[in-house]
Amino acid sequence: MKNHTMEDLVSLCKRRGFIFQSNEIYGGLQGLYDYGPLGVELKNNLKKSWWKSMIYERDDIEGIDSSILTNPLVLKYSGHEDTFTDPLVDCKSCGERFRADQVPDYCKKEDLTEPRQFNLMFKTNVGPVEDNNSFAYLRPETAQNIFTNFKNVLDSAPHPLPFGIAQMGKAFRNEITPRNFIFRVREFEQMELEFFVKPGEDEEWHKKWTDLRLQWWEDQGVMRDNIELYHVPSDELAHYSKATVDIMYKYPHGLEELEGIANRTDFDLGSHTKGQKELNISAKVAENTQSNAKLAVQDLETKEWVVPYVIEPSAGVDRGFLAILNEAYKVESLKDDKERTVLALKPHLAPIKVAVIPLKRNEKSIVQQSIDLKNKLQRLIEGRVLLENTGNIGKNYRKHDEIGTPACITVDFQTLDDNTVTIRDRDTMEQKRINLDEVISFLRDNYSI
Ligand code: ATP
Repeated sequence: MKNHTMEDLVSLCKRRGFIFQSNEIYGGLQGLYDYGPLGVELKNNLKKSWWKSMIYERDDIEGIDSSILTNPLVLKYSGHEDTFTDPLVDCKSCGERFRADQVPDYCKKEDLTEPRQFNLMFKTNVGPVEDNNSFAYLRPETAQNIFTNFKNVLDSAPHPLPFGIAQMGKAFRNEITPRNFIFRVREFEQMELEFFVKPGEDEEWHKKWTDLRLQWWEDQGVMRDNIELYHVPSDELAHYSKATVDIMYKYPHGLEELEGIANRTDFDLGSHTKGQKELNISAKVAENTQSNAKLAVQDLETKEWVVPYVIEPSAGVDRGFLAILNEAYKVESLKDDKERTVLALKPHLAPIKVAVIPLKRNEKSIVQQSIDLKNKLQRLIEGRVLLENTGNIGKNYRKHDEIGTPACITVDFQTLDDNTVTIRDRDTMEQKRINLDEVISFLRDNYSI
C-alpha cells in the first residue's frame, strides 16, 4: 500500500464530487469550501452518527438548533468580544499576514511586525439601518446559545444533574490564515455537547467524556494509533477552562486538533445568569446586569441554588470528515501491475450505500429490473441507493471502490431467468450470486445497512 498526500485527497474530492472550492467560477474565496453530491452525504452521515450517539442512544441529553446570528451581548458576557483573538503579524518582506504562531520558515524574524490582537468574529448588519447599534455576530461556536437556552430547555424538558444539551451546525471564524484544505476554514460546522454536572463531579465526567469521544471516533473508522491526547498545559488554557484535553489526529499535514474536551467549570452559566451575587460562582466572571434568566438549578434536598459545572466535547465536522477520508483512502496493488483506489469507509458513513448496475445499459428488461430493485432497496435503506446506468461494469466497480460504496449489485440476463443477482464486496472484491429476495437480509447481515 502506498502513502498518500493531502493533494491525493483534494484531487479525489474534486474529481468525484465530495468537495469543491467555494465560488470557484469567480476565483473562489479563501477559507471556504462547498460539499458536492457525495460530500453532503458523507457529512450528513457523520453528523447523524454523532446525533444518534448523543441524543438517541442516551436519555440524559437534549438537542437544540439555535440561530446563527447572535446578539452581541451573548458574546460580550461570554468573553469573546475581549478575548476571542489571535495574534497577527505582518511580514515586511513578502507583504503577507500570519497568525504569530504560524509564520512560515521563509519569513525572517526581523521582517515581522510586533504581534497585535485580531478578533476572529464576523459581524453583520441586522435590519435596515446601518449603525453601531444594529449589528449581530455570526456565531463563532455553537456553544453559547446552548448556555443562553439553558433555562428554556430545562423548563420544557426537566432533567436532574448530570444532563446535557447538544447542538451541531455552522460556526464562523475570520481565521488569519485558513489552510490545509477543510482543516482550517472560515465557515465550518461543529458538533458540540455541553454536559452539566454537579461541581465536584466535573473531573470524573471530564475523564468519562474523553473516553467516550475516543471510542466514538474509533467507531467512525479513525484508528486509535493515529490519535494522541494532548493535555493542554495551564498557561495555554482558554480563559474559561480548568482543564482541556485535545484529541489530536495525524492529518496528512501533521498532528493537529480534531476535537477539544474542556472542563469549563461554572464560567458560562455563571457569566450569563442574572443574580450572580446570590449564587456561589467559582469562576471569575464579569458582572452581568443585562441577563433576565437565572441559570442555576435547585438542589432538591438542601434547597440551595447551584450553578452547574460544564464539560464540553467540541468537535469539528469538517476536521472529522478529513480524518475519516484520510483513514479510508487506500491505493492497493492488484495483479498485472494494476492498482485501485479504494475508500474503505464504514458502511454507515458511505455516501452511497448500494449501487445497482444493469449489466447492459441498453437492454430494456435488465434496466427495468434494476430500476425496480433500486426503488425497492431505497424504500428499505436509510441513505442513498444509486442506479448506476453509465459506463461499463469495470469502470463502475472502479468508481464505486473510489467513492466507498460498500456493495454493488449487478443485474444481468440470468436475473431475468432465475431472479439472482451478483453482489460485489468493495473491500474483498469478491462476488456472490444471491436471490433477489435475500438482498436486503444480505445487506443487513454484512454491512448493517
Ligand atoms: P485551533 O487551535 O486549531 O484553531 P480551537 O482550539 O480554536 O482550534 P475550538 O475553539 O476548541 O478550536 O473549537 C472546537 C472544534 O471546532 C475544534 O476542535 C475543531 O475541530 C473545530 N474548528 C475550530 N476552528 C476551526 C476552523 N477554523 N476550521 C475548521 N474547524 C474548526
